[in-house]
Amino acid sequence: MILQPCTSSIQARENSMSEAIKGLAPEQLWDFFARIAAIPHGSKNETALASYLRLIAAKAGLAVRQDEVGNLCISVPASPGCDKAPAVVLQSHLDMVCEKNASVDFDFSKDAIRLVRDGDWIRAEGTSLGADNGIGIAAAMAVAISGDILHGPLEILLTVDEETGLAGAVNLSPSLISGRILLNLDSEKSDHLCIGCAGGGEVSTFLPLTLTDIPPQSAALALTLTGLRGGHSGLDIHENRANAVTLMARLALALKEHSALLAGFQGGDKHNAIPRESLATVVLRAARLNAARESISARHHAFVAEFAHETTMKLSCEETALPARVVSETSSAAALHMLAAFPHGVLAMSRHMPGLVETSSNLAAAHIHDDLLTVHNMSRSSLSPALHSTMEQIAAISSLAGGTCEMGTPYPGWNPDPHSKILTVLEKTYEEICGRKPERTATHAGLECGVIGEKCAGIDMISFGPDIINAHSPAEAVSIKSVARFWKILIGTLRRVATGAYA
Ligand SMILES: [Zn+2]
Repeated sequence: MILQPCTSSIQARENSMSEAIKGLAPEQLWDFFARIAAIPHGSKNETALASYLRLIAAKAGLAVRQDEVGNLCISVPASPGCDKAPAVVLQSHLDMVCEKNASVDFDFSKDAIRLVRDGDWIRAEGTSLGADNGIGIAAAMAVAISGDILHGPLEILLTVDEETGLAGAVNLSPSLISGRILLNLDSEKSDHLCIGCAGGGEVSTFLPLTLTDIPPQSAALALTLTGLRGGHSGLDIHENRANAVTLMARLALALKEHSALLAGFQGGDKHNAIPRESLATVVLRAARLNAARESISARHHAFVAEFAHETTMKLSCEETALPARVVSETSSAAALHMLAAFPHGVLAMSRHMPGLVETSSNLAAAHIHDDLLTVHNMSRSSLSPALHSTMEQIAAISSLAGGTCEMGTPYPGWNPDPHSKILTVLEKTYEEICGRKPERTATHAGLECGVIGEKCAGIDMISFGPDIINAHSPAEAVSIKSVARFWKILIGTLRRVATGAYA
């Protein structure tokens, strides 16, 4: 079913905000961007925007197909004489992240984003802007209806629900596109060409614990570790930030010599964040309390020396009320050995790109509830076999400890190919336009290219875009100058491919 957007209300919204983009070049691109910003399109709410774009395509006589999950493909015939050129897919995602300042009265399900011009920047009034990925959509649509840009056959692929876990790309019907060159227009640094990303996969471990009575003459200590830097488990993993769960397991293990038993453990929550805080309760003989405190202090000093960059790390140790039950000696040892053995941090660096993390893992969360320890590990790699082997390693450690595992379905990475032909074409185009070489980069986080690349065998991909800052926040802004440059690079690349440079 095709839902037609209410064109009169869209028109009204467009008119109310055209001031911010008045006079900006390329005009067609900015005009599309303003129209897109006027239509609510948060993740899982892309229907109205998709309908609007279908309408534009239909008016221009372009064929549109949509798969079951709502991904759109608009086919644009080649310019006269260029129909023998290889087809190029221009790919962006339809959805945006909806973030607003608490003081702003704004309803992302029905309000138009209010555009503001601020020197070289376009931003929104108190909300995220949606330049991620609205500029990409606008550029592709501007090419599609221009009539005077030289290009071969084009397929404009617009995916749904990228921001909440790449769901559109994961469920993409591969037959929606036939092109085997893909320009992903979803990057945020105009002097970078992105040629790789990491895949990811989660493993959840469940370790049953045996509980016993509290031994006589016991005391309980609450250990609290706070103030670690944490951060994104992919983008920040190379910084060797301390993992609060790993450190707490090592600390509790060090108390084994005082016959400490585990009574509680909690640390971490999000699968994609490095744990910043953790808490453990241990029970030990009251007579060993002072000796235990000394061991804790020694460990704390060792942690400070090992992670000198964790300048706000704080470890506290307070005597607390005895719990009703405690984890048995065997179960305590199994739990803590397992947590201390799980990998955390960088596991391999890329051979293709100096400085790029190829494989990493994050011990993301561990919680004891009653007689069960649940642990979540999240691993990443641009190399699928390396991702699988890391997940298998986590499963092996779990099994050694007597636990069971649930392996999540991993999403694939995109291994950088320094010999990619579209990379050569783009580098030449960039150099011609900007007078300098672009930087080749790859990201140790998920991108749609990884998922699409695995579905469409042999596809040659690259990701680039204008300068966008503070994406996913109300401070999101896009540089006007960089959009003009991005546009020139895009149409320059299409012209080269259309005229035989991609051979
Ligand atoms: Zn994006």
